[in-house]
Amino acid sequence: MKKIYFDYASTSPVDPLVIKAMEPYFSQAFGNPSSPHALGREANKALEESREKVARLIGAVPEEIIFNSGATEGNNHVLEEIIPSLKREANHVIVSSIEHHSVLEPIESLRAKGFNITFCPVDPEGLVNVDHLRKAMSEKTGFIAVMHASNEIGALQPIREIGQLARERKILFLADACQTIGHIPVNVKDFACDFLSFSAHKFYGPKGVGALYVRRGVNIAPYFRGGDQERGRRASTQNVAGAVGLAKALEIGHSQMGQEAAEQTKWRNRLLREVPKLIDGVKVNGHLTNRLPNNAHFSFDGLGSEALLMSLDMAGICASMGSACTSGAMEPSHVLRAIGLSDELAFGSLRISLGRWTTEEDIECLLKELPQIVRRIRI
Ligand code: PMP
Repeated sequence: MKKIYFDYASTSPVDPLVIKAMEPYFSQAFGNPSSPHALGREANKALEESREKVARLIGAVPEEIIFNSGATEGNNHVLEEIIPSLKREANHVIVSSIEHHSVLEPIESLRAKGFNITFCPVDPEGLVNVDHLRKAMSEKTGFIAVMHASNEIGALQPIREIGQLARERKILFLADACQTIGHIPVNVKDFACDFLSFSAHKFYGPKGVGALYVRRGVNIAPYFRGGDQERGRRASTQNVAGAVGLAKALEIGHSQMGQEAAEQTKWRNRLLREVPKLIDGVKVNGHLTNRLPNNAHFSFDGLGSEALLMSLDMAGICASMGSACTSGAMEPSHVLRAIGLSDELAFGSLRISLGRWTTEEDIECLLKELPQIVRRIRI
């Protein structure tokens, strides 16, 4: 059976052009980029060219880019190395209540160790209110983390205003751009951020590689120790093919951004409009327009996501709840709770995320199958 993929926000297939760009670095140019011989120099050249490309595409300079394994590592790195280094008089931290677990879990550990943390609420559409954030700030605030867009409900945050506010008050600011980079404009100068995290596999690059932007002048201790790669900020032999793939994927993303976002926005709007017309008892989650071009997120009365996803899967449709159930013991999503959903509704959620290879027929098929499946499984 043909599979229809609506889970691009979880991960995306690697673009064939990206695979082609990476290939030489697995075979003929396989050297360790720290080796001084010809094969090492060749690998190092590719690594540094990729760094330059990534830096240019996000408004940074090459020394500000640390290649790593992805956004989880980037977020952990910043939180675990920066927050403990904040001066006593600036050790208050603010994070939005809908951050990814790779922010929230380190934050919980830091809170348990006595750091002073404020969780900034979001409104029912999933947006951080800048006035709320301003009010939560004090003389002692030294760090803020707000994601550019929610991986669950797609809400796009007022990142520029938040960055500006943080910069004016000399507060360090982490923006998690994992869901946006390569899809919509991301520029570290515009965002006025000090740190930016992302993963290549969310924009048609390979899994297990990403980058962390650290603004020049901000010192960050290494997360991995035992080598001076990445200017001493991340020991371990670099994933050269991965970095080449990330840079190529970002370049392609930039060249096709406008057209892809326009097409996905059109289909997303169609889903947001038509699903509630075709099915009773549906709630659209997230802001209607201030959202990722490729994200549609719904909650259904009287059904469970697991049954819904399983039935969609049996019809060849790959989708998601929008949040990972990590432990096997189902907890409602913290994001859906933060926007005020009851646990019951949160457990009946569906995230449809579109991508480069989504077609009009895929959308038609979903609009045909979904109402039938919901009718069948509703209790
Ligand atoms: N932040 C956000 C917003 C994400 O969507 C994800 C991936 N779902 C991550 C961080 C973590 O990315 P990775 O699993 O590639 O490390």
